[in-house]
Amino acid sequence: MDLTKLFEEKKPRFSLEIFPPKSHTGGTETIYETLAELKELRPAFISCTYGAGGNRADTSTVDICSIIKNKYGITPIAHLTCVNNTREDIDAVLDLLKQAGVSNILALRGDLKPGEPPKDDFRYASELIEYIKQREPGFFISGACYPETHPDAPSEVADILNLKRKVDAGAGHLMSQLFFNNEDFYRFRDMCAVAGINVPIEAGIMPVTSKSSIMRMVSMCGASIPAKLARLLNRFENDERALEDACIAYAIDQVIDLIANDVDGVHLYTMNKPHIAKRIFAAIESMR
Ligand code: FAD
Repeated sequence: MDLTKLFEEKKPRFSLEIFPPKSHTGGTETIYETLAELKELRPAFISCTYGAGGNRADTSTVDICSIIKNKYGITPIAHLTCVNNTREDIDAVLDLLKQAGVSNILALRGDLKPGEPPKDDFRYASELIEYIKQREPGFFISGACYPETHPDAPSEVADILNLKRKVDAGAGHLMSQLFFNNEDFYRFRDMCAVAGINVPIEAGIMPVTSKSSIMRMVSMCGASIPAKLARLLNRFENDERALEDACIAYAIDQVIDLIANDVDGVHLYTMNKPHIAKRIFAAIESMR
């Protein structure tokens, strides 16, 4: 599906992200329950992460995207990373996606694994995008973007110019890394406009549920924690319920501000916790 059509109507779209259950056998039931609950939220699409545990040629993303599409009737986006895959690995996943009728891909470089040299076939997401576009012209490709700059980039400007390469290679839609200060996103969006990046950009929102896990995540992805959120994390770190309430309110605040500032879309990192996505969607139901 050409996702740009989704964004033609000038109103924000709301999408969700899930990850495959840890064990293929033990987690299948849970993912069905998660998807059944997320379906009620009528998301524009659901994306599913790839090999976040570092697996090569992982087929669980394809399986879950097939379930999202064929059992729940929702548009899926399959994440696909390239730097730790060979061209043959990528070909195998593309063939499986085609067989499952899944034609939307979030094409990513993936993270470099410490102590393990990357494979030689693809260095950057833009190379994967070019490859898919030439092999499978019918696929619609999205790309990742970084409101606070990708941690490996030498500068903000270099990162934006690399993002432009990714769009020129064929990414028709961008999904952002999580951020907690909307001003970072607006500044990034302005820079994209100046650089001639004109595709829809969805804002990545992560509702925080634990201080330790968010600290681990931001240390990897380079997102910053504003003082207000840091105070909430410190104050409620030992009170799960209060922390959840406070951080859901924080996420809703971010989403409403994004709506007020004409965001193209909001991509909610659900962390496979539908009750949190439900609370956020309930707060903005009349604005969708
Ligand atoms: P690229 O676009 O290739 O950029 C990586 C770095 O290289 C940047 O610093 C960029 O500035 C630079 N660069 C790009 N092109 C060039 C060039 N031509 N010359 C020089 N420098 C260049 N990871 C997973 O493992 N699985 C997932 O499912 C997953 N899902 C994600 C979803 C979203 C929305 C986001 C934002 C990230 C996700 N990630 C996932 C993490 C992602 O793989 C990492 O952030 C990775 O480090 C970069 O991927 P990329 O596709 O943005 O890389």
